Order: sequence, then structure tokens, then C-alpha cells
Amino acid sequence: MRYPDGMVNTYTFFAPPQIVFGWGQRSEAGRLAATLGRHAWLLSGSRTLERSGIVDALADSLLAAGVTAKRSSAPAHEPEVADVDDLVNDWRGRGAAMGDCVVAIGGGSTLDLAKAAAALVTNRQGNSVVDYLDGVGRGLTITEPPLPMLAIPTTAGTGTEATKNASISSYAPPFKISLRSDRMVPRMVLVDPELTVSVPRDITAYTGMDAITQLLESLLSKRAAPIPQALCRQGLQLAWPALPRAVQDGGDRPAREAMAHAALLSGMALANSGLGVAHGVAAALGVHCRTPHGLACAVMLPAALRVNRHVRQSELAELSALLLPRTYAAEEDRVAALIDAVESLCREVGIPSRLRDIGVRREQIADLVPSSHGSSLSGNPRDLSDDELRELLESMW
Ligand code: NAD
Repeated sequence: MRYPDGMVNTYTFFAPPQIVFGWGQRSEAGRLAATLGRHAWLLSGSRTLERSGIVDALADSLLAAGVTAKRSSAPAHEPEVADVDDLVNDWRGRGAAMGDCVVAIGGGSTLDLAKAAAALVTNRQGNSVVDYLDGVGRGLTITEPPLPMLAIPTTAGTGTEATKNASISSYAPPFKISLRSDRMVPRMVLVDPELTVSVPRDITAYTGMDAITQLLESLLSKRAAPIPQALCRQGLQLAWPALPRAVQDGGDRPAREAMAHAALLSGMALANSGLGVAHGVAAALGVHCRTPHGLACAVMLPAALRVNRHVRQSELAELSALLLPRTYAAEEDRVAALIDAVESLCREVGIPSRLRDIGVRREQIADLVPSSHGSSLSGNPRDLSDDELRELLESMW
């Protein structure tokens, strides 16, 4: 991106203190966890990985390093208020205490559940995670350090292994809000792209588009900053060609490696720069229509780029030159080509373009508009009124 007169404004940058990345590196889990605690609360999320023996092997690696593990399985859905409260009560009831650590292996849902539980086990002022959620709770904050966590993602998408929040859903009343604290960034991240090989084709597409949406929205965000923007450009250069290949052939090692790395970078970027309208609406689609998070982001992405194109023309034109083989003389043409290419990418990986094709009923748009006003929307490059949002969603229905 251009920095007029070399100017760099004030910024703060958060990232996990230690990241270990590499094919097969899950064998390092015990050694890493042993530096966090002698007793681990091990949460696993994917039944496929549990059945394959990978979670048993992880527990063995902990034991071999002198770490005893108490195991739990996360439910197979995005975490809800009751899931967090139940897990916190379960861990506390079984003796979880300061000095222990958390090891979480799974998709974004599992890692978010683990992040929330790790924080609430040590923060005892509230009765429920709701008490700590902005806008709906009692305004409590995370004051005590959470149990230190080793996060092992098994989808390449959310980047939550590198962020300071956990998304928590409620269906009655409907909200999807983050439990958030600078202290919630996982202490250690172990990204083993081989773990993503078993992710089915549709989930590979949804989660991969989540990463691409995060990279684009963070880069364009109102709060964009130099380090996250550099990470976004690298992530996009890797993910753009890799995602169709990972969807086509789940065993394509370089494609899985590129996606796992890009997803991690997308988390580092969003934790520092925020997001935009695609993620704002995606939260609302999650609670009102139960749309999987990545699919919701992907469906919204082309419209989100269009709605911001005039306030981010030079950034989009530069991205177009970075990602597309052909460039155009006029900035506007480069931007149009980029948005067309994002639409083609969505089509290629099987993302529908209309809201009705993902099960949204037209009358639900009235509920989607107010529920889109979460923290993600506040990062959007330009402010959007309810009328503009409604028009946007109507045009996409
Ligand atoms: P997910 O964790 O819900 O997983 C989707 C499905 O894939 C599940 O059925 C899961 O069991 C399965 N799965 C996971 N790993 C697998 C593997 N290796 N092999 C086979 N199946 C596997 O999906 P997700 O997209 O990773 O996470 C979505 C959640 O993450 C949403 O709640 C979203 O809001 C949240 N999120 C959080 C952040 C953050 O910073 N906290 C950022 C983005 C998204």
C-alpha cells in the first residue's frame, strides 16, 4: 500500500508469543505444552480426527513430555453460551486451577470454546460467559490471566489461534458476540497443515474463503496498520492460487500448507486491524439463519468489496496488480477486474452468490440489519446506515 511521505502512524501489534508451523509438527505438542504446565485440559473438536487416532497420539505426546491430560470433546457446532458455561463448570469441578494449561485441537469453533473456557476458569466474578459479553452482559472484564493455551487449528480459515477473542453465539435472544481480552491471545500456536487434509471439500472452501475475506477486510479496514497489511498481502498471494487446489484435491500438500499459513496470517491481521461489513453480516447470518461462518463471509465478500470500492480504490487497484495475471492502465478497471476475479473464485470453489441460495428467507433481512452492527462492522472503511445495509442485502437476495 502507499504510505504518503513514508508516513507511519502510531500502532500496537499483538501476536502469539510462539508459533510453530510445519507439516507433521504435531509431534512437538508435548514438548511445547510442557513449558506451559504439568496438567493440561485437552479439548478436541473433530470426530474425524478423534476416530483417526490423532487426538490419542496428541495425548500420548503430552504424557511422554510429563504432562497429564484430562480430555473433553467439543460439540459439533459453533460455540453457544451454554457450551462455554458447561465446559467452565466441568473443568472447575474437576479441579482446574492456575498453573494448569489448555491444549485445544480443532476448527475455529473448538478453539474459540477453549479460549473462552481458559479465560473464565480463572475469572470467577461472573455466573455465565454472557456477563462478560459487550452489550448484553454485566460489563465484566477479564482481569485475571487465562490458563495458558496451546492452540492447534485443524481447519485453515479462522485464524483464531492468533486472535484475542472468542465468538460466542446465542439463538434466543439472537446474538453472536466476542468474548474479548488482550490476554486471550493463545500463548503458543502449533500449525500442522497435515491436520487439514481430512477437512471435507465444502468446509475447505468455506474456511478458506473465511481466511481470504479476513485478509481483504483487515487490509482495507478503517484500523488497517502497516504490519497487518504486509501480512495480508503475503497471505493473499499464497491463498489466492492455493484455495481452488486445496478444494479440488485435499491431499495437495503445498496447497494445504499455503492455506494454513494464510489463515494464521489472517488471524494476526484481524486481531490488530479489525474487519468489515462482510464479517458484520456474517455474524447476523450465523444467528438468524445458522449459516456456517465461512460460507456467510464468502457470500458477502464481493458485495463488501463493491460497497467500499470508492473509498479504497487505490488499495484495491494495487491488490489487483498483485494477484491477477493481467493488469489494466486505469485504476477503476483494475478494481473491477479484482472484484470480478473474487466472484469467479467464489464460483470455482462452490460458493453461491445469492442469499436465498444459502437458505435466507427474504423477511429475515429485517432481523439481519440490526444484528450486523457488531464490532466487525465498526472496522468497515465507510459507515453504512441501516437503509444502505438493507438495500445491500435486498440486492443480494
Ligand atoms: P468449525 O470449527 O465449526 O468446523 C467445521 C466442521 O469441520 C466441524 O464439523 C468440525 O468438526 C470439522 N472439522 C474440523 N477440523 C476437521 C478436520 N481436520 N477434518 C475433518 N473435519 C474437521 O469451523 P471453522 O470455520 O473452523 O470455525 C468457525 C467458528 O470460528 C465460527 O464460530 C466463527 O465465528 C469463529 N471464528 C472466530 C474467530 C476469532 O478470531 N475468534 C475468527 C474467525 C472465525
